[in-house]
Order: sequence, then structure tokens, then C-alpha cells
Amino acid sequence: MIVEKLVVAIDGPSGSGKSSVAKEAARRLGAAYLDTGAMYRAVTWHCLDAGTDLADAAAVAAAVEAADLDISTDPDVERVLIHGTDVTAAIREPRVSEAVSAVATNLDARAELVRRQRGLIAAHARVVAEGRDITTVVAPQAEARILLTASEEARLRRRGLQLGGTQSAADLERQVLARDAKDATVVDFTTASDGVVTLDSSDLDFEQTVRTVLGIVAGRGAAL
Ligand code: C5P
Repeated sequence: MIVEKLVVAIDGPSGSGKSSVAKEAARRLGAAYLDTGAMYRAVTWHCLDAGTDLADAAAVAAAVEAADLDISTDPDVERVLIHGTDVTAAIREPRVSEAVSAVATNLDARAELVRRQRGLIAAHARVVAEGRDITTVVAPQAEARILLTASEEARLRRRGLQLGGTQSAADLERQVLARDAKDATVVDFTTASDGVVTLDSSDLDFEQTVRTVLGIVAGRGAAL
């Protein structure tokens, strides 16, 4: 059986629901799943663990270039290892979320992670990759490119649920909006570039959003 190459690129701000939607779309497409945010988080965790000064751009870039990073691309297996340490849970901690922009705004670190992401995408016949710059930088030639957006209110609500409702609304708002503002200084993930389909999920539930993504993929002529 010949499996045609299918790359689905999904970008969006935090809380847009892109991780869970992209993962489920990958399952239904029989595709691999690449969470590029987890890669930024893992190298950030490593810098914090190793005591690397996050303000030292050269040191951060060197740490990213030397990083032994292993990320699962199976949508049913969430696993991230860095230098052999399983950081799957640790990379979701607030201290990592708060520090990750220092790595994400480092252009040398980005170049290295983009290179690795392209390698992972090339290694799979079918893959759904999500992040901030997949539709524009990492995989602009993807068969389907989607910008998944949601109103600020919907995003904060979802982020709150994802964190288990343990954080105050004010803390959440500060963290989510501050991170998006910092991220937006290096990549534009709020406006769709040419050929990228904007999908506003504010008034859609999870199932409707997944189906809309699959519809966009089908409409792009990809063999389902
Ligand atoms: O998607 P997630 O919220 O886990 O991403 C964590 C961080 O990684 C983002 O806030 C952003 O700083 C960075 N990131 C990025 N480019 C990507 C994916 C994530 O800069 N493609």
C-alpha cells in the first residue's frame, strides 16, 4: 500500500485547544503527532535543571544544540525525555511555562529546534504537527495548514480546566497572556498567512473542532 505524504500543520495561542485537537486528529488520520511546544518546554526544563542562565543567549543556544531530546510522536503515548530523564510531567509545571519564552525568543535555539522538528516531520508519512510557527516556518509546504484560534475568554477557561482548576483566575490570566505576548515578539500566530485556514473554536466543542479540522484536511485534497 502506498501511503501518500500528509502533513497537517496547526498553530495557535495557548488555550486554543490545539494540543488535544491535534492529537485527536492524528489518531483519526492514523498519523504521528508532534507537540513542538513540548520540545521548547523540555529544553527549558533542562536549562533550569542545569542552572543555565536564561538571560545568557549563547549559553541557552549551546544547551539547546547539545540537548539529547527524545519526544514520542505516538498520539497515544505522551513521553518526553531529555538527557535520559523523563520530564513528561515536569515540563507542564508553572515554573517551566514562565521560563519557556526565554528559549522561544532565542533565535539560535529556535533554528536548532526547527531543524529537529523538520527531521521528525520528514520521518513520518503522515503527521500532525502543532505549535506557533508550524504553518509559517517549520512546514509551510504542509498539505493542510490551520490557525486554531479562540476568544480570550474561551482560552482562559480551557487553560483553567487543563491545569485542574487549582490556580486563581487572575494568576491564569497573567500567565497565559504574558506568555502569548512574549511569544508574539518572535512568531506571529494571531493572523493567518496566505493559504492558512483560520478556525475559530470559541463556540465549538471538542468534537466539532476535530471534525472541522478533518474537513479542512479532506478539502485540501489529502487522501484520507
Ligand atoms: O504549546 P505550548 O504552550 O506547550 O508551548 C510552550 C511554549 O513553547 C510557547 O509558549 C512558546 O514560547 C514556545 N513555542 C514556540 N514555537 C512553537 C511551539 C511552542 O515558540 N512552535
